[in-house]
Amino acid sequence: MKRKNGEFIGSFAPYGYQKDEGCRNRLVIDPVAAGIVRDIFRMKLHGMSQDAIAGRLNETGVLSPMEYKSASGSNYQTGFKTGERALWSSVTVRRILENECYIGNLVQGRQTTPNHKVKKLFVKPEKDWVRIEKNHEPVVSDRDFAIVQRLLGMDTRVSPEQAEVYPLAGMVVCADCGAAMVRKNVCAGKRKYRYYVCSRNKATKECASHRIAAERLEEAVLHLLKVQIGNILDLKRAMEKVSEIPFQELNIRELEKRIEQKEAEALRCKELRNMLYEDMKDGIVSKEDYMELHEAYTQRRDMAEEAVGKMRQEIKDIFASNTDKYRWLDYFAEHRDIDRLTRNVAVELIDRVKVVDKDTVEVVFSFGDCYKEVLEGLKHAGCEVVCDSRGRVRFEWKEAV
Ligand SMILES: [Zn+2]
Repeated sequence: MKRKNGEFIGSFAPYGYQKDEGCRNRLVIDPVAAGIVRDIFRMKLHGMSQDAIAGRLNETGVLSPMEYKSASGSNYQTGFKTGERALWSSVTVRRILENECYIGNLVQGRQTTPNHKVKKLFVKPEKDWVRIEKNHEPVVSDRDFAIVQRLLGMDTRVSPEQAEVYPLAGMVVCADCGAAMVRKNVCAGKRKYRYYVCSRNKATKECASHRIAAERLEEAVLHLLKVQIGNILDLKRAMEKVSEIPFQELNIRELEKRIEQKEAEALRCKELRNMLYEDMKDGIVSKEDYMELHEAYTQRRDMAEEAVGKMRQEIKDIFASNTDKYRWLDYFAEHRDIDRLTRNVAVELIDRVKVVDKDTVEVVFSFGDCYKEVLEGLKHAGCEVVCDSRGRVRFEWKEAV
């Protein structure tokens, strides 16, 4: 029951949070540890591996969650009291990066014991977990969390001498067979050459090599990304000319009408209740009837007022999702001065890179569906969308808007 009410019932708050002094079942942010959690997400977003992040934290003397817990006074049993410090590990870092509690979700009841005699814990299937979304204040944004989950799911093998993964690791595929393109280092004399080749070619020779120099590929992708960012900046300007948002507006108008009706109903109940009092004073209505009717009118008024509150929230939500809906444009616009392809930008803005051959590369950008939807909307609004052979898009108005 407590879990379903969003009450935290664990003995210890997750790292980055503490139990509220006033209400022990509520999680509030622990500013110090939450800062470290944010740093961990930031490092991951910049392409660092879990190992490298753990290393950095240990080097800079940041206490691991276990040490932090004992240092901050709670009588936490660390399990091993050898006097040795528990350090950060890639496992600890990964657990933090995967934990939904940092976007405000409370997930409890993950484990169970078969019965009271057996002490062993079993992990329950995910559908049986008790998950409450937006239960407490988040430490990281939904978007950063989603990107990190994507990163964790991708093949991001790191070369041993490097702390950062390659900007396009896990995103490059063969345009022919769809298999992943793998990075290959070839040494010729003193020089080192880095290529991407089709992994199917490497494994079975069933596909051609589709070989492309890593540097050339990254340059081409950066170029195409710049073109797309330019398109999106122009798109934003074109959208500013069309300020209408027909669907949402219809929804809001409908809600406003219903709010008016409910407000009138609430007011009517109040008036009836007042008249009722007069009637009782004048002896038209008995005391018992007065009590009963008074109660009924009050209930009806409360219900109407509650409905009004709900619809007001709905309108707010529509406005919120409205602004959220086009936020992706800013994800591109933010990088208008980009001069280097970093892991961070690649993961944020690029979905896939398809390699045809060393001269032909196709980039599938993130938010492709949103982009298409906006282009369609602009066409309906009387804007002509012209794309040249270099991928640059122009927006031309048939008539002045
Ligand atoms: Zn292939």
